[in-house]
Amino acid sequence: MMRIGILYICTGKYSMFWKDFFLKAEKNFLPGMHKEYFVFTDAKRLYSDKIPRIHKKYQEKLGWPFDTLKRFEMFLKVESELEKFDYLFFFNANMRVVETVDESFLPSKEEGLLAVEHAWLHDASPTEFPLETNPQSKAYIEPGMVTHYLMGGLNGGISRCYLQLFKDINRNIYEDLSKNIIAIWHDESHLNKYLLGKKVKILGPEYGYPQGSGLPFKPKIIILEKNWYGGHAWLRSDKKDLIGDNLIYLKLFIKKLLGR
Ligand code: UDP
Repeated sequence: MMRIGILYICTGKYSMFWKDFFLKAEKNFLPGMHKEYFVFTDAKRLYSDKIPRIHKKYQEKLGWPFDTLKRFEMFLKVESELEKFDYLFFFNANMRVVETVDESFLPSKEEGLLAVEHAWLHDASPTEFPLETNPQSKAYIEPGMVTHYLMGGLNGGISRCYLQLFKDINRNIYEDLSKNIIAIWHDESHLNKYLLGKKVKILGPEYGYPQGSGLPFKPKIIILEKNWYGGHAWLRSDKKDLIGDNLIYLKLFIKKLLGR
């Protein structure tokens, strides 16, 4: 049976997304295949974390943007465990697999890797892509070189190829950091650079569909709208605000009760 490893980071407040992500992935993502989850988190407890297929890895909250930029370093720490899988996929914490995603999702041996077009930039002209413009950065892309802008939130592939991507991109990120450079869209800028010119599988915006966007695609995997979950700034911050935080959790609880 095909063995699938799912990589998931939820430090700080992002751990609120785990339960529903897991339940939907179990039901809809590659049903019938053997799935294991690697969850990088500082949460004390996670829904279902006693199930042996869920590997909870302690990851301290690094602060923005390192919680996302240093993802490759996090994954490489468990390289020997990840090598045992046929395929590995990373999902942003606020993604939900809402329709069945079957084996046609998997990249072929020739493709090796898979990435998803950024839904908001699907129709944009390449001159509008938010590429890294500093030639000193390892994520720099010359204008006019890319035809698709890829999202950082969902990608993966054959384990061997994806582990190689982690090593190469992580090296590039550290080289940038040694020059005090952080690419404009962090790991996403490095991903776009790395995949440039490679014959990888590129899926359309139905695999990374912004919830409630009205974009003309039938979603299979959605990106939950963060404004409905406290907003970007609140989610990414590690400041504790007893009243403010509890008000947001209360709002989310009521939303859930109302089934919305
Ligand atoms: N992330 C996290 N904790 C944080 C910030 C980010 O775990 O405090 C992880 C999480 O997996 C998230 C990903 O990094 O989905 C990307 O961050 P974010 O969603 O804020 O970036 P965006 O996708 O909006 O660019």
